[in-house]
Order: sequence, then structure tokens, then C-alpha cells
Amino acid sequence: MTELPSRRLLLVHAHPDDESINNGATMARYAAEGAHVTLVTCTLGERGEVIPPELRHLTGAALGEHRKAELAAAMAELGVHDVRLLGGPGRYGDSGMMGLPDNDDPACFWQADVDEAAASLAEVILEVRPQVLVTYDEDGGYGHPDHIQAHRVAMRAAELAGAAGWRIPKVYWNRVPRSVAEDAFARLREELPGLPFPSAAAVSDVPGVVDDDRVTAEIDGGAGHAAAKAAAMRAHATQIAVAPGERCFALSNDLAQPLFTTEYYELVRGEAAGHGGNRETDLFAGTTDAAEAA
Ligand SMILES: [Zn+2]
Repeated sequence: MTELPSRRLLLVHAHPDDESINNGATMARYAAEGAHVTLVTCTLGERGEVIPPELRHLTGAALGEHRKAELAAAMAELGVHDVRLLGGPGRYGDSGMMGLPDNDDPACFWQADVDEAAASLAEVILEVRPQVLVTYDEDGGYGHPDHIQAHRVAMRAAELAGAAGWRIPKVYWNRVPRSVAEDAFARLREELPGLPFPSAAAVSDVPGVVDDDRVTAEIDGGAGHAAAKAAAMRAHATQIAVAPGERCFALSNDLAQPLFTTEYYELVRGEAAGHGGNRETDLFAGTTDAAEAA
């Protein structure tokens, strides 16, 4: 069996760019600390809207190829070397936004057989044996079909891997505490006249926002990892415009949203290691013994 570092983190995401927006600081931190960080991306995001006018000719497979290169550049910024496309490149197509006819394309991820996709992911789990899995909640954070499907596949794969010999000790969903989102948007609206975006998004546009007490862990990127996150987001130039100063960004809708340099999680499986009701500040907290004993 391959010799891997003792701490191993697996993240499952729908499209190239989701990992940097949601977990860029976390990935940079653990990569820098010598943990093995594995990213599994389920689709190449071939139906994403392209922001830079000079790249708008890219659609379909050509956009997918381009986004694969953006993903590689982003991972170089984060120091992450183990990146996989679920089932191999192009196995699952982008499903487009919920309710569009794209959702019915038999090649899209939304139409994928969950057990079959989960079996592919379970192979990765059994190879890497992560102590920590990070993915979305059951709504995919905000209702995008590929995000919902990524959630289903990740949770099912964890079950399958558990039955086959590797039970992942801790499973987290990406979150943002409501008070943090509200404060960040209040600041953003004040700064808006100086920003390169015409208006701001709303708290409801941010995936994974929940009441503060559901958030069990927070990872502060610190200066270095926050900078790596912003650089990784910039690498996804077809999808993300990062404002100068790197405190906010916009997707193709051109609505400003805060760039969170602290990332938040809800533990949904495993034992929280936060003390006295405090949030965990290390996703691996408490896992070493569990992992070695398994
Ligand atoms: Zn996405």
C-alpha cells in the first residue's frame, strides 16, 4: 500500500472553482502542514457561464478542458497535488442550473446512478483512507443539481467504503454562520461604491448559510493561506472575478460577495473535539487514535 502522510483530507466538489471558494484556505493550510489533501471534482463545469469576454467562445467540451487547466493552476496555488475527476475526465457532465432542460441530458451528473458514481468515489476513499471528508449538505449548499448529487455521492461513498473496510472518522459539510454572512454583507454594501461590481449579492445567495449554533468548526486561513485561496480563486478566471484587495469576488452574475478567509464546517459524523462548546479549529482533532485503530 502506498505510504501516505498520517493526516489525510478528502474533499468532494461539483465543479472546478467550488473547492477554492469553499475550502481554499483549509486546503492550503493542510497542504502546508504536510497533510495529504485529495480533491475529487465530479464534473468539469462545461455549462458554466464564462466571465471574460475574450474567453466566451469556450463552450461545452472546450470549456471543460479549459476549466481542467484552471483547476490545475488553482491547485498549484494551494499546494494540492492529488486531484481527481470522478470516474475519469469527462465521465460526468455538468447538469446546468436546476430546472433547465440540461438536467435531462443522460450524460449529466444529475442523471448519474448514485451507487455507480459512489462506487468510483469509494475506490478513492479505500486508497487514500482519509480521516476527514468535506462535502456539501443535502441541498448542495444552494440547490444546484450537481452540488446536490455531489452530496449524495459523497455520503453514499462513505457508507460503501465503511462497509469495505475504511470508515471515515469525521464527515463535515461546508457552512457559513448566518451572523458572519450578515456582518460581511453589511461591510460589503458600505464598500460597494469603491468596488468593481455594480451591486451586492444577498446572504441567501451564499451556499451553506445556517444558524451559528450549527457550525462546529472554523479554519482561519491566516494571512498566507487566505492569500493562497484568493490566488486559487483568480486561477478560475472563467468563473470568478476577484476584486483588488481580495476581500470580495463575483461570479458571472457580477454580484459582489464576501471572500471568506475563515472557512466554516458542521460536523455530521464523528466526535467533535471542540472544548466547552467552542468550535473546533482543526478538522483532524481527535482523529489519530480512531484512524490508527481502524
Ligand atoms: Zn459548483
